[in-house]
Amino acid sequence: MAPLPVYRRKDGSLRVNHRRIAKPEAHGGCKWLSDCPIFGGPRLSITSNTKSGPVIRVYHVDAWPYGWNLWYVTRGRFVSYFVRRQSGFPCDCPDSRSRAGRCKHSRALRAALATLPH
Ligand SMILES: [Zn+2]
Repeated sequence: MAPLPVYRRKDGSLRVNHRRIAKPEAHGGCKWLSDCPIFGGPRLSITSNTKSGPVIRVYHVDAWPYGWNLWYVTRGRFVSYFVRRQSGFPCDCPDSRSRAGRCKHSRALRAALATLPH
């Protein structure tokens, strides 16, 4: 997470701004990939447009009756987010809290699921 902004007052003392400004909503694209050859199951590629350019992350998607687990492994670390199967598709990632549940996982998964036959 980015460091908190620090300001210098006129008297020279420092003030830390603990209020985080919500970032604009994530924009990007998503597409389904073929099933994972190692773990099996569908994979979803999510592209985020960041300040330093587009970033692509491939998530494994495990469907559960109450939601979807999106996960990946990076540098030996297991990262997983859970998007609940309910109105608004709320996600439990840190980004989701500052965007009222509308993070890239929630938005991308909702868009990707809409492309599937019912
Ligand atoms: Zn999320």
